[in-house]
Amino acid sequence: MTTPEVRSLLPAAEALLPEIVDIRRRLHRRPEMGLSLPGTQTLIVEEIEKLGLTVQLGRLTTSVAALIEGAGPGSSVLLRGDMDALPLSEATGLDFSSEIDGVMHACGHDTHVAMLLGAARLLVERRASFAGRVLLMFQPGEEGFHGARVMLEDGLLDLAGAPGPSGAFALHISTQYPTSTINIRPGPMLAAADFLTIEVRGRGGHASQPSTALDPITIAAELVIALQTMVTRQVNVFDPAVVTIAHVTAGTTNNIIPESAFLEGTIRTFSDRTRQHVHEAISRLAHGIAGAHGAIAEVNVILGYPVTTNDPAFSELVRATAVELLGEERVPGGVEPLMGAEDFSYVLQQVPGAMAMVGARPAGQDPTTAPMNHSNRVVFDEAAMATGAATYAAVALRSLARS
Ligand SMILES: [Zn+2]
Repeated sequence: MTTPEVRSLLPAAEALLPEIVDIRRRLHRRPEMGLSLPGTQTLIVEEIEKLGLTVQLGRLTTSVAALIEGAGPGSSVLLRGDMDALPLSEATGLDFSSEIDGVMHACGHDTHVAMLLGAARLLVERRASFAGRVLLMFQPGEEGFHGARVMLEDGLLDLAGAPGPSGAFALHISTQYPTSTINIRPGPMLAAADFLTIEVRGRGGHASQPSTALDPITIAAELVIALQTMVTRQVNVFDPAVVTIAHVTAGTTNNIIPESAFLEGTIRTFSDRTRQHVHEAISRLAHGIAGAHGAIAEVNVILGYPVTTNDPAFSELVRATAVELLGEERVPGGVEPLMGAEDFSYVLQQVPGAMAMVGARPAGQDPTTAPMNHSNRVVFDEAAMATGAATYAAVALRSLARS
């Protein structure tokens, strides 16, 4: 496609915006969580079938995949939108608020589905003008359920035909950025997020006679501080880590030394090397400090999502395409990595691609006080969905054109 043709995607997406908004609001009213999202799946299937495409339902989850075939043979590209909501009671006051108590689309995944359906429509209308295939990935279970990994295990990439997609792209909406901007960086975009528990086991006794017991609380306290020292002294500041002990429990009352103390926290890193190093250092410190005092530590690290790493060449393709579509001022530079985590990282481990953030902070809202994703007061500027739909479609076309 020539530059004017890519540019034509934005007005086309703006013309589609009322339909995209309607889909989004229908999803927003009926949010679903986890890996089983039957209502969301039904809505997506209906919309995909309206476009004359064949759907592939997931065998392991309520995922939906569909293939848009261009006019001739060529490579393929994957576009992903996640589908699931969060356990929150909505407090936005919007007239299309969640009708399901305790469940809310507070991370904007409803907008991702709507934008991707809009992009599918734009691409179907232009299928005569491109060669290759676009694989649409509608994914449940992003919020901690490893839904992307489940879809990969379900054979997602085979649906594009051999040799599989040569690029993959996802958008995430966010009120952290001004509305209708595209924000992307090469390399690490989001962190790896792992969960940590440590149980320090001593020996209980009377609080007035600590020498006859083995106090796990003082040992746990020492360990909490030692973990922070480890992060500042052992981790390269240019390849950072966060270790936060966010939950501490021990004891029952003022005059009993308890048997054990329990610590729980999160570990965030941006490279496999630092991730591995921090895991080993935590274990060494916990066992060493507990052992030095004659106690025992039991350390458990549960692996969460890996680092979301944007392929440099694909990131540049996304950035250049977004500039072409939106102009430089809506594609700001200097985007920092985010300490949140994403399971699109599993796709990016297998396919070179990128995730970008589409800004949706309503105009006039103060960036320091605007409710963020995962807040039950978050409000996304729906106009940004035209930018998102056009960007999905334009990136797909540019990716197919390069290979
Ligand atoms: Zn999200």
